[in-house]
Amino acid sequence: MTSNDLQVRYHAVCQAIETACRAAQRPIDSVRLLAVSKTKPAEDIARLADLGVREFGENYLQEALDKQAELRDRDLIWHFIGHIQSNKTREIAQNFDWVHTVDRRKIVQRLNDARAHCATPLNVLIQVNVDDAPTKSGVAPTDLTGLVEEVMNSPHLQLRGLMSIPDPVSEEALIASHQLLASLLATLKHRFPQAMLDTLSMGMTQDLAPAIAAGSTCVRIGTALFGQRTPRSER
Ligand SMILES: *Cc1c(COP(=O)(O)O)cnc(C)c1O
Repeated sequence: MTSNDLQVRYHAVCQAIETACRAAQRPIDSVRLLAVSKTKPAEDIARLADLGVREFGENYLQEALDKQAELRDRDLIWHFIGHIQSNKTREIAQNFDWVHTVDRRKIVQRLNDARAHCATPLNVLIQVNVDDAPTKSGVAPTDLTGLVEEVMNSPHLQLRGLMSIPDPVSEEALIASHQLLASLLATLKHRFPQAMLDTLSMGMTQDLAPAIAAGSTCVRIGTALFGQRTPRSER
């Protein structure tokens, strides 16, 4: 993608965030943009960084590590947003600032152990299976509290909030899923008032506006910024 194309797309995304914030009567700076750069070259990340984007989300560990190495002179914040395999926890804990997809105890323990040697705790979001789909990742809402306590009791992890990837089955179902995640975070904040639970990671290219309406504080945008992705298997 050319610098000019990226600039046009970036400004359109900023505009969409601003419009959604205004419609929801929320301050524009209450929503941060996470640029999802999976499958895209380091060059595109560098171009967006030149425009002022600091936070990037990656799904595949080795691909992310390669790009981080290429971009190591830049001051970027890296978020891991892919499914976490337990044999990848060490490298994830040591090479990312945030992890959005924590969904089971074993992963919590392994990330905590691996982060012990780093100066700062790893920022953690718990992924919730908001559609209650048996095949999907994410903790069931009924099991959330136990996992929250596990993260809170991990000295090298800092629980920051919740994340979801709702199924876009219908507009109504999407809104209900967003509202469910927002209400789960509200309940946690009430129950743990001393915790730093400031992040609701929901909203992608297709559902940015309804996610912001429901209270998202972090939208994860790939396609609208970088264009369509080629399926992994075809690369
Ligand atoms: C790929 C991905 C995104 C970005 O999706 P787009 O529809 O391209 O904006 C956001 N979140 C997660 C977890 C993803 O895997």
